[in-house]
Amino acid sequence: MKIPKKQMRYCPYCKKHTLHTVEIAKKKPRRKTTKSQRSFERKYKGYGSFPKPNPKGREKPTRKVDLRYKCTVCGKYHTVGEGFRIKKVELVKV
Ligand SMILES: [Zn+2]
Repeated sequence: MKIPKKQMRYCPYCKKHTLHTVEIAKKKPRRKTTKSQRSFERKYKGYGSFPKPNPKGREKPTRKVDLRYKCTVCGKYHTVGEGFRIKKVELVKV
């Protein structure tokens, strides 16, 4: 799917339609301070098995894409709805 890199969109901060640049959000490293992550790391270190078996044979053919819209007037990011599944993403210059 081709997505134009620059779009006219509603900015909730400026409260009007402005020009936005579109970016694809990248994965961030996991936080190490959550309870589940701490217990995972306690189990994971040293010798022993992996805490949860890796799921096999049920990988999905598509990935979710998370678009971020950046307002060129105020410079703030916002999203519209949740991410959606596409096989291929392409940001196109218009
Ligand atoms: Zn704005």
